[in-house]
This record gives sequence, C-alpha cells and structure tokens, in this order.
Amino acid sequence: MRAYLPDYQCSSANSLSEAFSFLEKGARPIAGGTDIMVLFDAGLLAPGDYVDILGISELKGITKKRNTLTLGALTTYSEVRQHKFLQTNFPILCESAKEVGAVAIQNRGTLGGNIANASPAADFPPALLVYEAKIHLVSSRGMRTIDYTKFHHGYKESELKKDELIHSVSLENHLSKHHHFWRKIGSRKAQAISKTMMAGVLKINKNVIEEVRISFGSVAPTAVRCTEVEKFLTGCPLNKNTIREAKQILLKDIHPIDDIRSTGKYRLAVSQNVLEEFLCGIG
Ligand SMILES: Cc1cc2nc3c(=O)[nH]c(=O)nc-3n(C[C@H](O)[C@H](O)[C@H](O)COP(=O)(O)OP(=O)(O)OC[C@H]3O[C@@H](n4cnc5c(N)ncnc54)[C@H](O)[C@@H]3O)c2cc1C
Repeated sequence: MRAYLPDYQCSSANSLSEAFSFLEKGARPIAGGTDIMVLFDAGLLAPGDYVDILGISELKGITKKRNTLTLGALTTYSEVRQHKFLQTNFPILCESAKEVGAVAIQNRGTLGGNIANASPAADFPPALLVYEAKIHLVSSRGMRTIDYTKFHHGYKESELKKDELIHSVSLENHLSKHHHFWRKIGSRKAQAISKTMMAGVLKINKNVIEEVRISFGSVAPTAVRCTEVEKFLTGCPLNKNTIREAKQILLKDIHPIDDIRSTGKYRLAVSQNVLEEFLCGIG
C-alpha cells in the first residue's frame, strides 16, 4: 500500500540547534531523501515527523587541516568524486562514489545518509573501513567521536542515537605509498546494488607485504574488515602460494547469504576472485 501523505509532517532546520529541538521531539532526519523516499513510495516509511537537514551549513563541505581531511555529513557523491585531493589521496572513496546509482542519485544522496541507513550493501562503508575513518556524532549534549569500525553493530543497527546526527567523517592522510583498490560486483555497471564489493590498501617492500587493510560489503550483516586475511598477509611474500592461502582464509572473515540479489555460494567465489585480482595487481 502506498503512503498516505497527511500522515507525515516535515519541517526544515537551518541550524544544528534547530534540528536538535525537532529530533528531541521525536522527528527523524531527512537529508537527500534518496533512501527515505523509496520507502515512502513503497508505503514502508513510518508515519510521523521528519526534519529536513539539507539547509544546515555546519554539516556541509570538505575541509583539510594539516593531515586530516573532514567531510561533512551532507557531502554528496558528486562532491566526493570531483574532489581533487580525494582523487589523489583517497581514491577508493571517489571510485565508489562514481558507481553509486546514476548521476541524479550522486547529486542528491549524501555520505551521512549512506552511513546512517546502515545497509550492508552501502557503497561508502568498505572505503571508510580501510581508510580507518573516524565518525563524529552531534547532539544537544555535544560532539562525540568514534572509530568507524565500531559504528555499525549489525544489520541496520548502529551507534547513532535517535537525538543525534552524523556531523562528519574524518580521514588521516598517510597512505601515499599504498596501493588502493576498489571493486563492486553487481548486475550492471550503474544503478546496481552490489552482490559483493571490496576495498583494499596495501604497502609492499621488496615483495614483502608491510601493511594491508581489506574490507568487503554485502557479504555479512555489516561491511567487514577482513582481520584474519590481514593478519595472515602481513609480513608474507606476495606470490601465488600466499594468494591461494589468503583466498581460503577469507572464508573466516566473510559470511555471505542467499538473498534476492545473489546466492551465498556465488558471493563467496566472486569475493575470493576479487581478492586475487587485488593481490595479483600489485607490482
Ligand atoms: C535509484 C537509486 C540508486 C541507488 N544506488 C545506490 C548505490 O549504488 N549504492 C549505495 O550505497 N546506495 C545507493 N542508493 C541509496 C542512497 O542513494 C544512498 O544510501 C544515499 O547516500 C542516502 O543518502 P540520503 O542523503 O539520500 O539519505 P536519506 O534518504 O535522506 O536518509 C537515509 C537515512 O539516513 C538518515 N540520515 C540522513 N542523514 C543523516 C545524518 N546526517 N545524521 C543522522 N541520520 C541521517 C535518515 O534519517 C534515514 O534514516 C540508491 C538509491 C536510489 C533511489
């Protein structure tokens, strides 16, 4: 059944303090609306109060201070993909933004919305995991910062409290000597929700892996860091045997299931192949 419009009230907030007063009365935030309006159209959006946060300047912009880059929660995919510093230093974010939906969604959908929606198939989280992002949450009680790895607890579950907003995400820039890798597997190149996706960064010295970070999306209730594979690979020579073993160890880190988009078996096999593609591409 489609949603009945009079069951919804939407107000606009132009500052954080204005937004907090609506959130404290039980309103839910709406940013680009690209997730929320799909639910609305399908009659699956809970009736009640909403607060439009798109006009809040404190949540906008990409800023650089010394070695730290901060992206406001309202940063869109288009802003990410066009940002020169991100293209050079955090290319996985730009590559993943390029493959989100199509241009209309990239112009409208936001970083904060993608994170808060807490979907295991969301495209930004694997990149945020390998870049070891910090996430900043704000409410009338003030700001708190947590490691992005601790933000998602389970399917559609996160640290975010009902009266809080995602304020921004920050990244430390010290990966200039690393290889950066991104691969999204879906039914098409655009407008596709992934069957699996992988982000990876790796530093190699004289063919020995010095540091590696790997994460997958769409293969567990949340995007996951592959700590078992990382532990195994660190200090190993990069050769065929290492790659073969890493593909087996990946089975400890990811637990894909069957759903409408794919089967667990397919997701597992393709994830192993993507890991191989990443490791074979270093050189
Ligand atoms: C056609 C189509 C294609 C799509 N393709 C992709 C894709 O390829 N990959 C992908 O990852 N996603 C895709 N999406 C999903 C969606 O576009 C993204 O998740 C987007 O980033 C959501 O951002 P938004 O600002 O539109 O969120 P909204 O719809 O406004 O909100 C989503 C959720 O986040 C909450 N929220 C929003 N901002 C904040 C904030 N600052 N603080 C706290 N809570 C907040 C809202 O309350 C809501 O629960 C697609 C959607 C459509 C309609």
